[in-house]
Amino acid sequence: MNAAGPLIGVLALQGDVREHMRSLEAAGARAVSVRSVETLSQVDALVIPGGESTTMSKLAILDGFLEPLREARSAGMPMYGSCAGLIMLADRVTDARPDQETVGGIDVTVRRNAFGRQVDSFEADIDMPSIGPDPFRAVFIRAPRVDEVGPEVEVLARVGDDGTIVAVRQGRLMATAFHPELTGDHRIHQAFVNLVSQSQG
Ligand code: GLN
Repeated sequence: MNAAGPLIGVLALQGDVREHMRSLEAAGARAVSVRSVETLSQVDALVIPGGESTTMSKLAILDGFLEPLREARSAGMPMYGSCAGLIMLADRVTDARPDQETVGGIDVTVRRNAFGRQVDSFEADIDMPSIGPDPFRAVFIRAPRVDEVGPEVEVLARVGDDGTIVAVRQGRLMATAFHPELTGDHRIHQAFVNLVSQSQG
């Protein structure tokens, strides 16, 4: 625990919660898993982990989380989503289930499972100038991709010859199509912790 760092929750409806908590702590934050709306109201910021966005949507509705999440985001809570978390923060989703809901907030269209069945999972070294000059080893697992970005969206990273967008930021919201919590490289969590600290003034 870092006594002075911001308190960042990791939404624990589903997904790799513990790995995110470890990375956040390595980046100087205090981390807590968020299993209740009450805990959500106590954190400075939120990470939405990877998992399965259809299941996450269903659980968010069942557990009464969807509206509180949307309200927290509208009120300016910084949020970072990885993989399914990117889908949860997207305003528009292609290949979503008909009843699938998102928290929204990032003006992008994302496509679920966009890299095809043959390449269910892969790793790639990507350039991400906002976190430093060294490439970031990105782990993609049934990952979405960003197909369209609105004018307020900053593209943070691309992958492949076609320049597929895989990391974005809009204001206090950040998202990656890949899983930085699975590597020992904490620079993306560090960037989010910095964003949270800056938003606290
Ligand atoms: N394919 C998943 C979805 O659509 C995302 C995969 C992941 O988070 N690793 O939600």
